[in-house]
Amino acid sequence: MFVGHYAAAFALKAKVPKTSLGMLFLATQFVDILFFPFALWGIEHLEFVEGYTQVNNFKMEFPFTHGLVASVLWAALFYLLYYFLGKQNDTKKHKVAIAMGLAVFSHWIIDFIAHTPDLPILYGPPKLGLGLWYYKSLTFIVEALLLLLGWMYYMKRTKPKKRWGTYASYAFFVFLILVNYLNFYVLPASEDLMGLTTSALFAYFFLAFLAHLMDKGRITDR
Ligand SMILES: [Zn+2]
Repeated sequence: MFVGHYAAAFALKAKVPKTSLGMLFLATQFVDILFFPFALWGIEHLEFVEGYTQVNNFKMEFPFTHGLVASVLWAALFYLLYYFLGKQNDTKKHKVAIAMGLAVFSHWIIDFIAHTPDLPILYGPPKLGLGLWYYKSLTFIVEALLLLLGWMYYMKRTKPKKRWGTYASYAFFVFLILVNYLNFYVLPASEDLMGLTTSALFAYFFLAFLAHLMDKGRITDR
């Protein structure tokens, strides 16, 4: 999944207001941010198979980024980094660190729903995945609904600082759905791994930056 992962970012921001929405956007995609360069460098593998599922055209081999155990370890790393690099007298840093760790791990859970059985527990079989990707329209709808739920929770727990804070948050939601629509139905499938890596990384960082800007227009209600 792509924008579906941001449901977790919105929900965690709503729950722990001290976290940065921009960083949560990056954390929810962290293992994908690693996967593309790893595939490019041959540490993990991405093999193009035309029509592999209705949604994606490649088979993946990615125990170090998408293994269940690896995902828990990446999440723990985020927790530790945020906890130990947080200010010493910051009473909320434990909560923030937990939220960041959960954001990283949420990627695995949402991938588990979407992927064909290709997510290893440690390395090699058995591999897990419920295979929503076999159904394109259903994936699109589930992803949009997930995002809607996370975003609505965020909207409920925050309020606009200025009028633009309302417009920006609606516009950003619509923009995310539009990006997913283009990704699903308009953009041609690419076999160029370098191009795919560049555009994926650009999208992850650009959307995180937009999330950060949008969030500046809102404050938490509590
Ligand atoms: Zn992934």
